[in-house]
Amino acid sequence: MAKKTNNYGNCCSFCGQPSSESEFFIPSPISNQTFICSNCVEQIEMMMNEFRNENSNRKTAKFDNSLKKIPTPKEICAFLDQYVVGQEEAKKYLSVAVYNHYKRLGQSLDDDTEIEKSNVILVGPTGTGKTLLARTIARLLNVPFTIVDATVLTQAGYVGEDIESLLTRLLQAADYDVKAAERGIVFIDEIDKIARKGDNPSITRDVSGEGVQQGLLKLLEGSIVNVPPQGGRKHPEQKMIPVDTKNILFICGGAFDGIERRIAQRLNTHSVGYASDNSRKRIDEKNIMKHVAPQDLKAFGLIPEIIGRLPIITNLEPLSREALRNILTEPKNAIIRQYIKLFDMDGIKLEFTPEALDLIVDKAVEYKLGARGLRSIVETVMVDAMFEAPSMKKKKFVVDADYCLQKLREANFETQIP
Ligand code: ADP
Repeated sequence: MAKKTNNYGNCCSFCGQPSSESEFFIPSPISNQTFICSNCVEQIEMMMNEFRNENSNRKTAKFDNSLKKIPTPKEICAFLDQYVVGQEEAKKYLSVAVYNHYKRLGQSLDDDTEIEKSNVILVGPTGTGKTLLARTIARLLNVPFTIVDATVLTQAGYVGEDIESLLTRLLQAADYDVKAAERGIVFIDEIDKIARKGDNPSITRDVSGEGVQQGLLKLLEGSIVNVPPQGGRKHPEQKMIPVDTKNILFICGGAFDGIERRIAQRLNTHSVGYASDNSRKRIDEKNIMKHVAPQDLKAFGLIPEIIGRLPIITNLEPLSREALRNILTEPKNAIIRQYIKLFDMDGIKLEFTPEALDLIVDKAVEYKLGARGLRSIVETVMVDAMFEAPSMKKKKFVVDADYCLQKLREANFETQIP
């Protein structure tokens, strides 16, 4: 243990300061000629702290390139359950696909049975959790993740973003760690919007549809793509970064509006069932999307090559009233929990009565806003309270149905709906 000693009559071996000017003067345990003064000890402590901080920041920013501990499909599904309400079918398919994908990454190169890539396509109405599922998977695996809207992509040479730009975004999400990006996940939203019009291959090139699909194909099947690091148009002076897409998992999502009719046609049934039989009608309408198959995507306008590269097709169901109610309060980062946390930070206990929550769900259903609408409704209800909260004397704030109605009326909420 260091002794407090000022009477060595020596100088600090680090900075040369005489012992008389130092609060502490510590001798070396192995040499009675070597000392260190208290100033130097303080300096070293500061440097050590800085070093440790930098190191831990670096560790948290780094992506897990090893993926040694791949969670099992059940573990993946349990993790998804914490954030995504319902959609059991999609969760199961996605869990298995992700598990197999990462098992494939661990396969040795000389293995005869090469496991093929398991890119996924999620078919389901907008706002039912497609992006949320993909985002939650990326969070679990701690891999770089990016979302790209297929509608902004155009084939090379046309106005819009080059297909490669989606890899630029992935690289940016990976802090330009190419190895991490090459194991990342890309979510391509609105894939249905690049469907070619009609079931026949076009004679003239179709800028926004087929051309983009052809461009995407190269990425989906796995190839080395030269990516402009800052995005934008390719120009000769820009140094490109080669990125191998072989191990990037692509998850595509789309609403495929009207695909039910094509599924029904294929199944040789009617999506509306028989007018005289109401119960039959309900079952048919509810279940038809479960039967979505590659042929339906082709009939919708995706080219067969793209469909072939998206071997896992699963569907998401429209959210029921009950599901919307759960979304408000159940997931780990549920909207209501977020507001409770915000108020808690101001020392106020926020409560919503069950009737208030029901009313919020009713409004989301009435205005056909789905899960996305829940947030805007709650925000409209809470904005005044959030404005007042930090200067409020009250330590508790209860939101009931009357308060919700009053605030929605005051804000003319109905007129704000797009
Ligand atoms: P999509 O990609 O299907 O259009 P999103 O995943 O972007 O829809 O969903 C929009 C928002 O709605 C999400 O941020 C989330 O808050 C909420 N949401 C949608 N579906 C669910 C769900 N099944 N469980 C929990 N929240 C959901």
